[in-house]
Amino acid sequence: MAAAIAARLKNLRVTVIDPRQPPIDKPCGEGLLPEAVAALRSLGVEIDSSVAAPFAGFRFSDEHSSASARIPRGKAFGLRRTALHQLLIDRATELGVSLLWGSRLSSFDSHNVAVDGHLFPCKWIVGADGQNSNVRQSARLGSARYRPSRFGFRLHYAVAPWTDLVEVHWGKKSQMIVTPTAANEICISLFSYDSHLRMGRALDQFPEVARRLGAACPVSTEVGAITSLGRARAVARGNVALVGDASCMVDAVSGQGLSLAFQQALHLAEALAREDLALYESAHRRLTQNAMRMTRLLLLMNASPVLRRKVLRLFASRPAFFAKMISIHTGSSESDALDAAQIVNLGWRVLFA
Ligand SMILES: Cc1cc2nc3c(=O)[nH]c(=O)nc-3n(C[C@H](O)[C@H](O)[C@H](O)COP(=O)(O)OP(=O)(O)OC[C@H]3O[C@@H](n4cnc5c(N)ncnc54)[C@H](O)[C@@H]3O)c2cc1C
Repeated sequence: MAAAIAARLKNLRVTVIDPRQPPIDKPCGEGLLPEAVAALRSLGVEIDSSVAAPFAGFRFSDEHSSASARIPRGKAFGLRRTALHQLLIDRATELGVSLLWGSRLSSFDSHNVAVDGHLFPCKWIVGADGQNSNVRQSARLGSARYRPSRFGFRLHYAVAPWTDLVEVHWGKKSQMIVTPTAANEICISLFSYDSHLRMGRALDQFPEVARRLGAACPVSTEVGAITSLGRARAVARGNVALVGDASCMVDAVSGQGLSLAFQQALHLAEALAREDLALYESAHRRLTQNAMRMTRLLLLMNASPVLRRKVLRLFASRPAFFAKMISIHTGSSESDALDAAQIVNLGWRVLFA
């Protein structure tokens, strides 16, 4: 939807083909980082406290330590995916995007797409069809999945958020993220390598979250998806381009999937308007590099409990350092990376923490 809106804003005629009926739900932690909010604003979709639940930063914790940091610049929100989808549909409709819900793209060549047996002429084809993208496979743009993949589930509870931070909890064999999504609702997402682990049983590993939930009831159905880290071999070929999870995936722990997708949509529209998809390929590479680096660090913390304990202890004892990491991660920092001296310093401190 973001890619459609961005292309329409460049005066292209756009048709969206989606086999599902709106508003479309998706297993997601539902956190929108400042870069996602800013990109949505560029698309003409305003996210504020009247439609979403604001959050001010992050708290990382395990059973030994905990560290918090505020997002220094920009606004971040939690918003149900169905509500976000509806806002995007409203904007697309206002701009005159054609929406073909419940229809399936069966094949395409460089001049036409076949939708439910009918041929439509087209100049560009954008595969925004998620991690198992058919468009990516048909255009032979390679697999975007790298092992090991994790299983992510999400469930909403009717309870007032107990903090204005997004909480990232590490348990022994899984991870839980708590995001406020409304004045009286939170979204919990659970990540593990165990496809059978569900929220009810996992809560035993997170006594603090279980205590906060008390007798609160789930108000949605628990749904899950695979999450992993990877990028398509190329994100454009001929007249085909990929956007969002179809083009790359950063493990959900990064909370950056939507930010990346919306920013990619804006760059893609610019490249389409200039009829030069090479511009998109290089902008996409720049956009994803930093997110991939940060996600690898977070995944390392998952893989090694010893490393995780040390890193969390370091973050807790050096709040300014943790704040810097968060500001880079949320795109609020002037520089978008730690410099070499800071990295060496971090390595030594982790070693002796
Ligand atoms: C558990 C979990 C928690 C997450 N938490 C966060 C978070 O807090 N913040 C964040 O930013 N990101 C988060 N993510 C990542 C985020 O959900 C994804 O990056 C984002 O949904 C990608 O959007 P997309 O539009 O590319 O793909 P999707 O949201 O998967 O949408 C794909 C669309 O393509 C349609 N489609 C599928 N097949 C076809 C076809 N053949 N033809 C036409 N249409 C098709 C689908 O119906 C759907 O509408 C999380 C992911 C998981 C799994």
